[in-house]
Amino acid sequence: MLVLLNLGCSPPGSPSQTTPSSTTTTTTPPSIPPVRVLMLTATAGFRHDSIPAARAAVASIAARSSDIVVTATENLADVSAARLASTEVLMFALTTGELAFDETQKRAIVDFVNGGGGFIGFHSATDTLYDWPDYGRIVGAYFKEHPWVQPATVAVEDRGHPTTSGLGAAFSLTEEFYTFRINPRGAVHVLLTLDPASVGAQGDFPLAWTQSIGRGRSYYNALGHFPDTWNDARFQLQIAAAIRWVAGRL
Ligand SMILES: [Zn+2]
Repeated sequence: MLVLLNLGCSPPGSPSQTTPSSTTTTTTPPSIPPVRVLMLTATAGFRHDSIPAARAAVASIAARSSDIVVTATENLADVSAARLASTEVLMFALTTGELAFDETQKRAIVDFVNGGGGFIGFHSATDTLYDWPDYGRIVGAYFKEHPWVQPATVAVEDRGHPTTSGLGAAFSLTEEFYTFRINPRGAVHVLLTLDPASVGAQGDFPLAWTQSIGRGRSYYNALGHFPDTWNDARFQLQIAAAIRWVAGRL
């Protein structure tokens, strides 16, 4: 919605005014509303011990960011068309299993993203809703297995994307590293990949990506198994940038 502010300009069609006192205004910039994030951590399968750390990390990001407001919920009923109408970003963080959305909710989620809403998935967001192909398209892939739970190196494949700013060419951490049923490369824009040599493997293992869905943006990051990941400043940089990016603010 475009809000027209009266900044003392001449009304349309009026001749030039010679009332300088009326043109003096304060220079407060127009306020940009914050990005409203609905963060869902509901589970219908495995439940990660890192969920409290995830919620704390995202709350912390919001607390120090004047442009981000987060509501975390475990209540599926909060994911409704009415709620999404006042939401810029829908985040599935550590969700699992066949979450019991009804058809109306599923339609609302698809319409939200197609209509320009932002979607973010973290870690087991790809271990979620296997029976709903539209969701798989939004998140980008489905979890296959986690062959490696160990320290490893993550290569930053696209160092120019806002969500990888400050990460450098690669970083190392201890994580549960996922593989996916179908390698999403080609359907998505890959940001991070596992350095296969760092786990003694060969192959192509994307770990984070973006894509456009209709008029909306989607971001997924497979990291987040351990609380330490959520507490890691490098991960929090990615979370904050992802929120702004999928909201179209970056
Ligand atoms: Zn995990």
